[in-house]
Amino acid sequence: MTDAFPHGEMRGYRRHLRENTIACDPCLDAARRDYAARTRARAAAGKPPKGVIAKARAAKKAQPDA
Ligand SMILES: [Zn+2]
Repeated sequence: MTDAFPHGEMRGYRRHLRENTIACDPCLDAARRDYAARTRARAAAGKPPKGVIAKARAAKKAQPDA
């Protein structure tokens, strides 16, 4: 049974959150792309954006050399 960490996918980003780890760059990038697409979709639907990435950015900024 394989349980590879799906880095570079939205699934991976969610898993980082679930395991309480800082999302790696590929996962953050995937989340960013997903978020951008979601934001566009929400804007098109007339809904306000959500601050999911802002949280990840803050966590990453807390790292000294990231
Ligand atoms: Zn990752």
